[in-house]
Amino acid sequence: MKVPFVDLKEQYNSIKIEIDNAISTVISETSFIGGKHVDEFEKKFANLYGVKHCISLANGTDALYVLMKMLGVGSGDEVITTAYSWISSSETISQTGAQPVFVDVDEYFTINVNKLEEKITTKTKAIIPVHIHGQMCDMDKIMEIANKYSLPVIEDCAQSHFSEYKDKRAGLTGIAGSFSFYPGKNLGAYGDAGCIITNDDELALKTKMFARHGALKKHQHEMEGINSRLDGLQAAILNVKLAYILKWTDARISNAVIYDNVLSSITQIEIPKVRKNVKHSYHLYVIKTEKRDELANYLKENGIDTAVHYPIALHNMNAYKYLNYSREDFPVASFNENKILSLPMFPELKRDQIEYIADKINDFFKN
Ligand SMILES: *Cc1c(COP(=O)(O)O)cnc(C)c1O
Repeated sequence: MKVPFVDLKEQYNSIKIEIDNAISTVISETSFIGGKHVDEFEKKFANLYGVKHCISLANGTDALYVLMKMLGVGSGDEVITTAYSWISSSETISQTGAQPVFVDVDEYFTINVNKLEEKITTKTKAIIPVHIHGQMCDMDKIMEIANKYSLPVIEDCAQSHFSEYKDKRAGLTGIAGSFSFYPGKNLGAYGDAGCIITNDDELALKTKMFARHGALKKHQHEMEGINSRLDGLQAAILNVKLAYILKWTDARISNAVIYDNVLSSITQIEIPKVRKNVKHSYHLYVIKTEKRDELANYLKENGIDTAVHYPIALHNMNAYKYLNYSREDFPVASFNENKILSLPMFPELKRDQIEYIADKINDFFKN
C-alpha cells in the first residue's frame, strides 16, 4: 500500500467542478488583484470567526511582519517567541529590526509558559505564541503574563485554523492572529496566501494600509508600506474551500483518534499529547521515538511517506548563530530534533491506511 504524506489532489478532485468554475470566473472577470472575491473572502472568514476584521495578505509570513510593524516593533526592541517553529515566526521579528528572544517548548511542543516571564526585559515589545501542529498554547497563562507587563500578544495561527482553547478559536485571544493559507496548511490556497484577524479597529486599519503601499484610497499614500495582497484567484479558491473547512477539520480529528487508538499500545513511540480544554486541529500528527531515522526509512520502504517538522530548532540554525545560543539553552526543543516524526495526516486519509501504518510501525519494533 502507498500512503502519501499529504494528498492535495484527492481534495481537489472532490471539489473540482466548483474550483474550476471559480478559477474561470475570476479569469473571465479579470478580477486578478483585489475585487469582489477578495472582499468576499475577508467577509466570510471574519464571519466564520466572529471577528470584526479580516485583512487578507499575500502570505502568513507577511501577516506577522505587518502586525509587528504596525504595533511599533522596531530596532532596539525584543520580541519573545518559541524556539520551535517555522522560521517565519522569528525571521519577521528580525525584519522589523528587533531581536528574537526564544523560549523552550513544553511537552505539547508549544511555548513553555513557565519559562516565559523570565525572558521579559524593558526592551520586550510583544509576545508571539505559535499554536504549533494545530494545538493551541496555554493562552490563560500567556495572557496573564502579557497583561501584567502590558505586552501585545500576536497569535501565530498558521498551523491552527479552527483550533480552540477553552472554546475560543486561535487568533481571538491576543490583539491579533496571523494565518497562512499555504497549499499544505489546513485551509490551503493554490499558491501563497494569508491573513490577519483582529477586533482592534485601529490595528485593522493600519495593517491594511501598510500592506497596500500605505494607501487605503488610490494614490493617497499616508505612509510607505509594502505590497502584500491576496490575489483574486486564491480568494475565489479559498471561498469554495470555506464551505468544507469545518468538515475537513473534523476529518483530521477523527483520523487522529484512529491513530491514537492503533498506536497507543506501542511503547517505543510517544503519541502526541493533547492539552486539557483544547481542540487540536491536527495540522500535523507528530510522534516521538528514539529510533526516528530507522523507523522513517522502514516506513518509506513500505510505501509510507513521513516528514520531520522540524529537524533543526530555531536557536540551532545557522541563521541565529549571531545570538550565541547553545543547544542546552532550550533542551526540550533541541532534544526533540532527533525524535520527532510527522506521520501522514490529511482529511482524506483512510482508516485502512492508518491501520497499515500502525502495522508497519509494529513490525519495525518487533524486528
Ligand atoms: C507556514 C507558517 C508560517 C508562514 O506562512 P507562509 O504563508 O508560508 O508565509 C508562519 N508560521 C508558521 C508556524 C507556519 O507554519
